[in-house]
Amino acid sequence: MILDSIKNEVKTYPAYLTGEWQASNSQETIAIKSPWKHEVIGNVQAVTQSEVDESIEAAKAAQHSWAKLSLGDRGQYLNRWADELEKTKDDIATSVMNEVGKNFNSAEGEVQRTIDLIRYTVQEALHMHGESVRGDGFPGGSKDKLGIIERVPLGVVLAISPFNYPVNLAASKIAPALMAGNAVIFKPATQGSISGIKMIQALDRAGFPKGILSLVTGHGSEIGDYLTENPDINMISFTGSTKTGEHLSQKSIMTPLVLELGGKDPAIVCEDADLNITANNIIKGAYSYSGQRCTAVKRVLVADKVADKLVARLKTQVENLSVGSPVNDSTIVPLIDDKAANFVQGLIDDALAKGATLVTGNKRDGNLLQPTLLDNVTEDMDIAWVEPFGPVLPIIRVHSVDQAVEIANKSRFGLQASVFTQDIDKALEIAGAVEVGTVQVNGRPQRGPDNFPFLGVKASGMGTQGVHNSILSMSREKLTVINLKP
Ligand code: NAP
Repeated sequence: MILDSIKNEVKTYPAYLTGEWQASNSQETIAIKSPWKHEVIGNVQAVTQSEVDESIEAAKAAQHSWAKLSLGDRGQYLNRWADELEKTKDDIATSVMNEVGKNFNSAEGEVQRTIDLIRYTVQEALHMHGESVRGDGFPGGSKDKLGIIERVPLGVVLAISPFNYPVNLAASKIAPALMAGNAVIFKPATQGSISGIKMIQALDRAGFPKGILSLVTGHGSEIGDYLTENPDINMISFTGSTKTGEHLSQKSIMTPLVLELGGKDPAIVCEDADLNITANNIIKGAYSYSGQRCTAVKRVLVADKVADKLVARLKTQVENLSVGSPVNDSTIVPLIDDKAANFVQGLIDDALAKGATLVTGNKRDGNLLQPTLLDNVTEDMDIAWVEPFGPVLPIIRVHSVDQAVEIANKSRFGLQASVFTQDIDKALEIAGAVEVGTVQVNGRPQRGPDNFPFLGVKASGMGTQGVHNSILSMSREKLTVINLKP
């Protein structure tokens, strides 16, 4: 159902509350502006607190019978959802492109990855099983106690996703939550909610029971705390900035929380690195989707001896990156909004004022920033520590591996790190020393494949995602003890 605005062709999208597509009683909508078309591409509902309450009530009611279904039956619903997504893949990808400015190939890749993730989640859940334990393993225990350990759902899961992967990072919460037997309240990023709505239209067409998922659109600053503090939310799975994640963790007292937050992923380049492999990975890692990725390479820590050679290679490649519109499949696209572009520009200006060398870039047209490479970045510059979420890469020259590790670990973030070396012993030594969730040896940081665990430490997150781990975090153990020969 689409409520067409009378004034122009811009569509007003309903929210999906308690299994019905409806306009909010608030009678307020939020205009979604395309970051590259620079025009309003749709309006979404500003859902009210009482509608949030109704959605949670409906979710609680629907969850009981949902959890009683067999895993196989729940899996059939999810597979139908994947089928429906497949049928509308291009339309959803176009929405992603228009709404968050990702080039079409990447947007289509995101939707395909989501379809694959849903189907994989079904298979993973079907193959997970509980365990049993006898009491005689503990001193004084008895073989006559048999513990049966099963996993049971938590209840209602709140899924909050960020703008940069509006489909995939939503489905990677929704699919495991549903397979584990939970109901879901889905709060998409406001910029990204049209893509989220289209994804849920596909879920609706798959015929899920009413109320098992509600989609509440509205600014996080207005309904976010209300959702997070709600006592009937039994688990929160959040991906977004560290600032919002920290805020959530203060609000969500005693509610299990998984947080995937910001990063400042270093690429540590040793003297013996293959510089072609290194440069290719750094360029793709740092600049794809204008660097608006949690696992983008956000600093390079390079050994002095090879720094000149690496910078020369990077410069050539940066200058060859395509810049412009996402419809032309550009790598460098306009940032999500002017505020984001101003923020990145501020970091570049600060670094240059403090003596960084501009290798290339630092040109701007509104929210479209040319890819920028900064050399001789030092620890007094903000760009050495802050996540820019834009197309700028700082090079920090180091005199030893120890210094690289020290600077890597001084960061408050700990998402991923890359190590480029041809010496596997050195790679493993560095991998052991850096305080991050994942180390990539001779490859760029990245989330996935989605069967891998994905986690950040320090200010980069709490808990682990990846399909298997998400199912675990959205369920809990339940122990039943059979007392034999009582
Ligand atoms: P954000 O501003 O923190 O927003 C994330 C989500 O939180 C949005 O849905 C937002 O809604 C919502 N929100 C805002 N205030 C809230 C509140 N008080 N209570 C509940 N929800 C609230 O992040 P973003 O700009 O969308 O995404 C970029 C950030 O995400 C970057 O830092 C990036 O590194 C990180 N990220 C991390 C990962 C990872 O897996 N580690 C992956 C992707 C992105 P509104 O849009 O309505 O404000």
